[in-house]
Amino acid sequence: MAQHSQALDLEEALAAIRERLSRPIAKDTCTTAESLGRVVAAPVCAVMSLPPFAASAMDGYAARRQDVDTRSDYSLKKIGTSLAGHPFSGGIAQGQCVRIFTGAPLPEGADLVIVQENVTNEDGNDVTFVPHSSSDTNVRGIGNDIAAGHVLADIGEPVSPFLVGHLAAAGVSEFEVFAKVRVGIFSSGDELRDPGLPPNQLRYGEIYDANRITLIQMLQDLPVECIDLGCLPDDPDIVSSALNDASNQCDLLLTSGGVSVGDADFIVEQIQRHGELQFWRLNLKPGKPLAFGRINNCWIFGLPGNPVSTIVTALLLARPAIAHLAGMDLPPPLRLTATVAAAIQHSPGRTEFQRGHFEQSETGFSVTHTGEQGSNRLSSFRHANCLIEIDKNQGDLQAGDTATILPLTNLLH
Ligand code: AMP
Ligand code: MG
Repeated sequence: MAQHSQALDLEEALAAIRERLSRPIAKDTCTTAESLGRVVAAPVCAVMSLPPFAASAMDGYAARRQDVDTRSDYSLKKIGTSLAGHPFSGGIAQGQCVRIFTGAPLPEGADLVIVQENVTNEDGNDVTFVPHSSSDTNVRGIGNDIAAGHVLADIGEPVSPFLVGHLAAAGVSEFEVFAKVRVGIFSSGDELRDPGLPPNQLRYGEIYDANRITLIQMLQDLPVECIDLGCLPDDPDIVSSALNDASNQCDLLLTSGGVSVGDADFIVEQIQRHGELQFWRLNLKPGKPLAFGRINNCWIFGLPGNPVSTIVTALLLARPAIAHLAGMDLPPPLRLTATVAAAIQHSPGRTEFQRGHFEQSETGFSVTHTGEQGSNRLSSFRHANCLIEIDKNQGDLQAGDTATILPLTNLLH
């Protein structure tokens, strides 16, 4: 289905991408310590229970439930101490107790821990308690947190710092994850020079390449192997062979620039020449020209070149696509409703994502755009912490109207 003549809405484009992209098959074995950000490729089960023994949940005295007196003061004989890592070796009998601390194993024969707040008197090893209920045992049974054999992580789950801890606690030292997605990144344009080159070495008309370095940074938290493929000149033959070569070593390519209808825009024709163009136009601002297709077995996003357009389309389309290829099950981005603090101009036609700054107050969220919104203006990201989504049918928004916002922290996970 070639849809490249027709402009797609964002949701249509995302659906078309999801429909075509496959799920990963290749797997790696990864140590738990190195698994942050990877995607679980097979259910991971607890190797052992936590706690692996009945443990005290409080500081107090381990005792037998039937020795507790719920009506009057009573005394027990202290016969030892159980500390976390230093269990009491014997058992307890009638009328006895063991001083115990949080996390320490419960001595044999004990079935509750009397909290130390219930002690009224200690005379040598004779400990006297106030009357209290024995309904709360203050004991963490074996497997109270994690039961051996239970599934702790399922296929498609990205590994969070909390999951790393959970797996470590359950004795899982390594498990299967999906292989990293190999993402190749090109810039394109004769005017672009590598950042780091001294400014006096830039010829008139040249600028620094901002997009490649930004895209590489934007993928750091995803399970990808980023391959920096440099900058393509505005030469169709060189673009042709570079894309073709790169498609053989990558799962997905990101290019920026050269996707419009200018004399020096060659990316789209090369996708058509070597593969298949799925779509090329979106009802999106910024991001009207955006090519998505395939070259050999490699997916390609030809992102627009203006830096703001590159970033916004990478956030909204390329990152979710890469996450999908990596095997992740991610929910759609978080959308919040905010009150517009300063008027926003928007002409109906394309859905627009402006850069905004939102704040939370007692009455909810409010949002202000970050000033001039030209797609060349990287400065519109200064102080931005969200995108403001303005529907294609919407006109100008006035102060006091509501708008949908997408927090950037969520778009970057
Ligand atoms: P293009 O679509 O190639 O005509 O590029 C659109 C605009 O974005 C032009 O002003 C380019 O100079 C600029 N541009 C393209 N790629 C980059 C890049 N990697 N870094 C900074 N600006 C770029
Ligand atoms: Mg160009």
